[in-house]
Formats: sequence, structure tokens, C-alpha cells
Amino acid sequence: MTPLSRDSKVGVVGAGAMGTGIAQVAATAGHRVLLYDTSPAALDRAITSIEKSLARSVEKGRLTAGQANDIRDRVTLAGVDTADFTKLDEFRGCTIVIEAVLEELDVKRDIFSRLEKAVGDDAVLGTNTSSLSVTAIARGCKHPERVIGIHFFNPPTILPLVEIVPGLVTGDTVTQAVSKLIRNWGKTTVIASDTPGFIVNRIARPFYGEALRIYEEGIADFATIDWAMRDLGGFRMGPFELMDFIGNDVNFAATRAVFEATYFDPRYKPFLTQQRLVEAEFLGRKTGRGYYDYSSGAVTPEPKRDDALGRRILDRILALLINEAADAVLFNIASVQDADLAMVEGVNYPRGLLQWADALGIATVLSRLDDLQKEYGEDRYRPSALLRRMAAQGKTFYGG
Ligand code: NAD
Repeated sequence: MTPLSRDSKVGVVGAGAMGTGIAQVAATAGHRVLLYDTSPAALDRAITSIEKSLARSVEKGRLTAGQANDIRDRVTLAGVDTADFTKLDEFRGCTIVIEAVLEELDVKRDIFSRLEKAVGDDAVLGTNTSSLSVTAIARGCKHPERVIGIHFFNPPTILPLVEIVPGLVTGDTVTQAVSKLIRNWGKTTVIASDTPGFIVNRIARPFYGEALRIYEEGIADFATIDWAMRDLGGFRMGPFELMDFIGNDVNFAATRAVFEATYFDPRYKPFLTQQRLVEAEFLGRKTGRGYYDYSSGAVTPEPKRDDALGRRILDRILALLINEAADAVLFNIASVQDADLAMVEGVNYPRGLLQWADALGIATVLSRLDDLQKEYGEDRYRPSALLRRMAAQGKTFYGG
């Protein structure tokens, strides 16, 4: 493969929320960037958004006006009608292309097979997919070994984490070169295996799911669950605030994708409460209503500040989160360090879950899970075999 350096020309396919941010990050790191979309309107929005963002950085003194102009000038736009893919020849000089179009396997596969004809044989092809299999996207490529997941978080200009996801046949040299390149862009990288939800979107599921379960059982209302996770747990936002922020449609789709892709593992079961919200178009902040009402004058509900109840809520959700992180290690989805780093840098968790497990005591976490499984008799609460093994041997994640 062609070595990746600051001189590499970077192609970005899809100028939506993610592609625009990725193009800006690459241009800021000194690359020439070709940003491509089939929609001229999307390209207009993309460049306006990059210019606004750069102007804000100049105002805040993070960039000089000259630097901002240089970054802007490094981005070239390319837009053609879907039918006219020969124009993808514009990508010929790119040594790496990152795809960020809509989340549909057939569309992505089609783009990759066309891209392959337009770029050199040793260019790297990255996908920003959050829920599809990188291996499946690469199938059909003549050189699937150069296809890799490069999963940025939203917004790419702000969030430091990027999950690097090699597919089944991705070459080690590609994985290493891409990790190095993305770190040179100022990002933190973790290596994830090509499994549903990768690291963050899988480990984080109980933060939402168990909160919904606690609500559906009538144990506490949204405001109280949010208060417990925020004020007692130290999370920046409670689960319901966060789902409203992300968008209930997006969050529900992510849960469904992981649930379906794991052959309906009950741990990831979606909840009807959220489905009804999506059906009613109560998507959260973006539609003015979700779990909470965001219209002007709406009264914010008060939590029940009951410490014992709050602790029960926190302990339960935390035990399930730690269980997911432990299984991610057990099944080689991530290393201990990467599982922790991913949650802290990708979704702002107050501390790594496995470090948290060590602090609480593995045996304590295990007994909480055992209690839940006994009480409900559901596979949803099955403890990770790794926790059981470690508790029996008196081991910790960081102390050996
Ligand atoms: P988006 O809807 O904002 O943008 C998608 C863009 O792709 C649109 O501008 C559309 O015109 C363009 N497009 C569609 N078909 C195309 C084609 N054939 N060729 C070129 N361009 C085409 O989507 P997004 O939120 O930026 O997400 C893009 C990808 O990133 C998806 O795979 C998504 O799962 C993933 N992702 C999204 C987020 C997020 O929070 N939004 C986070 C991480 C990863």
C-alpha cells in the first residue's frame, strides 16, 4: 500500500454530518481533501458548515485567519448525479478515501466497487459505518484487504475517539497505517473487532436499555433515573436526556441494529416506550419533544431525590455496563485498555468501566448481576463468564 502521510490526498464520499466533519479534520491536519456527494445541496451545506466552524475557531483565537483560509482552500468539492459515476475518476489521486453515506449495505457496497475502479490499487478504503459489518461492505471488492472501518463519532471535529475496525481480511499493515494516520489527525484510536456496534455502541446499550427497563417497571420516572446517573454516577447526562439529545430515532435504530445483528440476544432488546416515542415523532430536542418537553415555558419535571433509590438505579445500570465491557474483553472485541478508553473518550463516561469494576470489586459486581438474574430469571442479566472466572481467582482487570 502507498504510505499514508500528510501529503496523502484524502477523499471523502458523502457530505452529510459525518463526511463534512471528517473532511474538516483531514484538511486541518494538512491534507488536500476531495469531498464528494451526489447532492449539490449537501455540498453547499457542507462547505458553509466548514467555513462557519473555521470562523468560530478564528474568533476564539484557536486559528489565525490565514490558517483558516488555508484549511478551507485544501477542500475541493465534487458533485455529480448518481448515474454519472465515471466522475469518481476525480478520486484517482487519493491514497485514502473515507465513505460516510447513508447506512445501507447495498449503497455502500456499490460505492466501494465503483471507487475501487477509480483509485489506485493500493489506496486504502475506509468506511464510517456505525452498525454494518466491514467484512460485508468489503465483499465484492477486488482488494478487500484494503477496506477498513474508520468510525468517527458525532461531531468528528470535537469528539476525540475513532474506532479502527479491521474486517475479516483487512491487512495488518493497513490497520497499523490507518491508526497512525488518524492519531496524527489528533484523534485517539482504539482497535475494535468487526462485531455489531463495535466497542462503544455495544457496551453503551444498557445505559439506555436498562434505564428504559427500570422506567417500564415503574421503579422510577425519567427525571429520577437521569438524576441518579448524573448526580450519583457522575455521568455528564442521564440516559433519557442523552437519548433526547442523540434523537430517539437514531438511538432506537442503533439498538435494533445491535439486537438483530446479535441474533436477538435479549441483552439488547429494544423497548416499546422508545418505539412509541419514535412513532409519535417525539424524537427529542430536534422535534421539541422526547422524554422531556422542550417547548418554551415547559416545566422540567423534578426528580425524586431519594439516595437509596438513586443508588439502586445506578448500581443496576452500572453492573450491566460493566458486564458488557467484560464480555467485550472475553470475546476479543476490545482490549481492557481500549474498552475503557473508548467509553471515556467516545461517550464521556466519568471513568473506564473496567477500572470502575476493579474499584467496586469484581465479586460485588458479579453478585449484583447474579441477584438480578435470580430475581428475573432472564438471560438478559447473565453475568459474563470473565467476571465469574476473575471473581473465583481473585483477579482484577488492571492488577492482574
Ligand atoms: P447524512 O444523512 O447526514 O449524510 C449522508 C450523505 O450521503 C448525504 O449528504 C447524501 O446526499 C450522501 N449520499 C447518499 N448516497 C450517496 C452516494 N451514492 N454517493 C455519494 N453521496 C451519497 O448521514 P451521516 O449522519 O453523516 O452518516 C453517514 C455515515 O456515518 C452512516 O454510515 C452513519 O451510520 C455513520 N455515522 C453516523 C453518526 C451520526 O451520529 N450521525 C456517527 C457515526 C457514524
